[in-house]
Amino acid sequence: MSKSSLRNLITGGAGFLGSHLVDRLIKSGEKVICLDNFFTGSKKNIDHWIGHPSFELIIHDVTQPIKLDVDRIWHLACPASPIHYQFNPIKTAKTSFLGTYNMLGLARRVGARILFASTSEVYGDPITHPQTEDYSGNVNPTGIRSCYNEGKRVAESLCYDYMRMHKTQIRIARIFNTYGPRMLLNDGRLISNLLTQSINGKDLTIYGNGKQTRSFCFVDDLIDGLVLLMNSNNKGPMNLGNPEELSILEIAKFIRDQSEKELNLKFLSELEDDPSRRKPSIDLARKELNWKPKILFNEGLEITREYFQKILSVE
Ligand code: NAD
Ligand code: UDP
Repeated sequence: MSKSSLRNLITGGAGFLGSHLVDRLIKSGEKVICLDNFFTGSKKNIDHWIGHPSFELIIHDVTQPIKLDVDRIWHLACPASPIHYQFNPIKTAKTSFLGTYNMLGLARRVGARILFASTSEVYGDPITHPQTEDYSGNVNPTGIRSCYNEGKRVAESLCYDYMRMHKTQIRIARIFNTYGPRMLLNDGRLISNLLTQSINGKDLTIYGNGKQTRSFCFVDDLIDGLVLLMNSNNKGPMNLGNPEELSILEIAKFIRDQSEKELNLKFLSELEDDPSRRKPSIDLARKELNWKPKILFNEGLEITREYFQKILSVE
């Protein structure tokens, strides 16, 4: 099939990652149906495609079935930041389970290939380090993050059962923390919080002692990885993330030192079930997709800071 005739469904297409994927696929000549319920997504993220012949917007909740004729499904719909997925945890679990079940059902019916946006959260608070795809994780099944973590785990399991029972073509990306333009200002995540605080001259908030680590990937690199995975023969699960591991304290100090304003660090109580370390092994993605992130943390952070600066200046 020629690339230009591919019909893509992107669930969660009005969100942070989804809208960058919409841009990427339309710019490469493909057709996109963006499906979203606008829980954390925004029309602003996809406004520039409204009226374009290759773009269609459907306002729909993935917990409800839908019939569409598509070749590829990129299933991203699910709130990703802790404050948003904990806002209504039962709905988050339903979105992961029922949403993925509905999208797998659609993929099966129309013979589409489906890529599921899973997460490094399937590893929970990992005991092995860095995390490889064969590590089965250390997840608290009853904690406040479990609606999301266990939701993603059962969704991965559904993908595999559709593959085994119905030969559905699946791809599973385990996405590690990603940042960049179009993150929500109010999503409570580290990068959005610290950048907003530094632009506004406020204290930089650190939960706990800041020794916990994360590995942050710039959005453009992540989208490259998703596209390569979808086009590959590897069904996954595959880690996609930037293996540069930094502590929260290092990141806060870096942002403080880059700022022209006098900023203080403010230590708050640690979050419940906050994973202590997080770093992807990307050996599989390197080998199978020839993929690795290209954008350095300071470069990506500057691009994101400029985006937040622009948003905050018009608010
Ligand atoms: P996001 O919150 O910006 O986007 C999620 C989108 O899904 C939003 O547009 C939201 O309105 C939509 N949505 C939520 N529930 C829905 C429902 N029931 N029906 C229809 N639409 C619904 O988050 P994001 O950062 O773009 O994440 C996209 C996907 O990638 C998610 O599945 C997330 O779990 C996964 N992921 C993201 C990260 C990250 O760091 N951003 C890390 C790991 C995994
Ligand atoms: N974090 C922090 N201050 C903030 C926001 C987050 O110290 O203002 C910490 C949080 O406790 C976690 C890390 O930064 O250890 C990453 O949090 P984020 O919500 O960005 O991602 P996730 O926890 O989902 O990996």
